[in-house]
Amino acid sequence: MIDVIVAGGGPTGVMLASELRLHGVHALVLEKEAEPTRIVRALGLHARSVEVMDQRGLLERFLALGQQYPVSGFFAGIVKPAPDRLDTAHPYVLGIAQTTTERLLTEHATEIGVEIRRSCELVGLSQDDHGVTAELADGTQLRSRYLVGCDGGRSTVRTLLGVGFPGEPARVQWLLGEVEVAMPAEELAAVVAEVRKTDLGFGAGPLGDGVYRVVVRADGVAEDRTVPPTLDDLKQQLRAIAGTDFGAHSPRWLSRFGDATRLAERYRTGRVLLAGDAAHIHPPTGGQGLNLAIQDAFNLGWKLAAEVNGWAPAGLLDSYHTERHPVAADVLDTTRALVELGSPEPAPRAVRRLLSELMDFEEVNRHLIEKITAIGVRYDFGAGHDLLGRRLRDIALKRGRLYELMHDGRGLLLDQTGLLSVAGWADRVDHVVDVSEELDVPAVLLRPDGHVAWVGDDQQDLHSGLPRWFGAAVS
Ligand SMILES: Cc1cc2nc3c(=O)[nH]c(=O)nc-3n(C[C@H](O)[C@H](O)[C@H](O)COP(=O)(O)OP(=O)(O)OC[C@H]3O[C@@H](n4cnc5c(N)ncnc54)[C@H](O)[C@@H]3O)c2cc1C
Repeated sequence: MIDVIVAGGGPTGVMLASELRLHGVHALVLEKEAEPTRIVRALGLHARSVEVMDQRGLLERFLALGQQYPVSGFFAGIVKPAPDRLDTAHPYVLGIAQTTTERLLTEHATEIGVEIRRSCELVGLSQDDHGVTAELADGTQLRSRYLVGCDGGRSTVRTLLGVGFPGEPARVQWLLGEVEVAMPAEELAAVVAEVRKTDLGFGAGPLGDGVYRVVVRADGVAEDRTVPPTLDDLKQQLRAIAGTDFGAHSPRWLSRFGDATRLAERYRTGRVLLAGDAAHIHPPTGGQGLNLAIQDAFNLGWKLAAEVNGWAPAGLLDSYHTERHPVAADVLDTTRALVELGSPEPAPRAVRRLLSELMDFEEVNRHLIEKITAIGVRYDFGAGHDLLGRRLRDIALKRGRLYELMHDGRGLLLDQTGLLSVAGWADRVDHVVDVSEELDVPAVLLRPDGHVAWVGDDQQDLHSGLPRWFGAAVS
């Protein structure tokens, strides 16, 4: 019996499997494709995802291969100076191709012992009180205690479960690809600038060696989005919209995507869960899908591991849906708004001008940046201190940095009083006695995902707070 089968070896599946593995859980990733994709979808990580990498000791690898950009300009492309003192140690967007992100996550997963089986497509599943039976395309059957569908927007797992996926179908599609161009760079840049005055979805950016990443609105919505466009399709659309096809040739890859926006009705059905694009899809405006997906995995991993390892308190696994479903609903709404704000129609353009004026108020600008970077996410843990439910930013301690102490994915009590104790939970929660000029509360209890579960200085109160997240005390 495998502990957890993860269907889909994209960023969500691999991140989740690593989180499970950190807790000694045997996670098997099944990926239907024989090789990693060459198609580059996401181009960057927002602050919260960079923090997640830092919390697991992966920051240096990502920084070495990424490029840091200012956070301004990510809300509907409206450029304002970034507010002072954003609540993160990583106030930048890390430009890094999704293919590189996936490679780094996969390397890490493999290093810590995650098993990834390629050319393995899940085609069927059933569950009973004790486990899940997964059926593969070659007829093999595998049995696991849990299964998580991280199999993308067209999720087979979601379909097999019969989980509803309400929302809006694609109204528009875009063609995307990496191609070589014959047109000189300056001339091409001038054409792009002109078209973008009225069509913010259009773009052509140099990648080096004469290769450009090109995105242009498609002529209608293709029945089957998975069938890639041809070079002729792309050139025809470029001519229709930009008046020139840039002399495009020698495509590296071509793809299409749309603006369908949908959210799974539930993230858990018994022993089967959904995460990442399998649970939510939306257009890439604002660059949030991959970030949201990685953060789903970060939320789910330790909870599912606790369930498998037998110490999960009642309701812990269900809190995955309760916490992450509203976050996704909010991202979908933000994306809907961003799409409207990019419209060339007079009314949305007027709303855009108004929003641009409002963003001159620092608090408005800060709110929108916190939203798009996900550092503003606050889970509802009930009434209490303002930190409760939020993730704590990385802070300097006497002995180093907070996030350096979180690489093992355990709970952490940061105790500035030196008077508290986690006796009874020491197998699940680290007790760090240290002080920080950046923390103005006596002590905080952090969950493995870095969210603040308790604030205070009272041992009895701490004792009543620990079981909610870390289960019963052991003697
Ligand atoms: C053009 C474009 C630009 C984007 N830009 C950004 C951006 O800038 N920032 C951002 O955050 N997000 C962006 N996104 C979104 C981002 O690409 C996705 O949100 C992200 O890939 C989701 O990861 P995932 O692992 O959930 O799904 P996927 O990446 O789709 O991975 C799913 C995996 O499951 C496998 N699979 C599918 N079915 C099965 C099966 N039955 N059995 C086994 N394996 C299966 C697939 O082969 C795939 O490897 C963009 C998306 C597009 C289309």
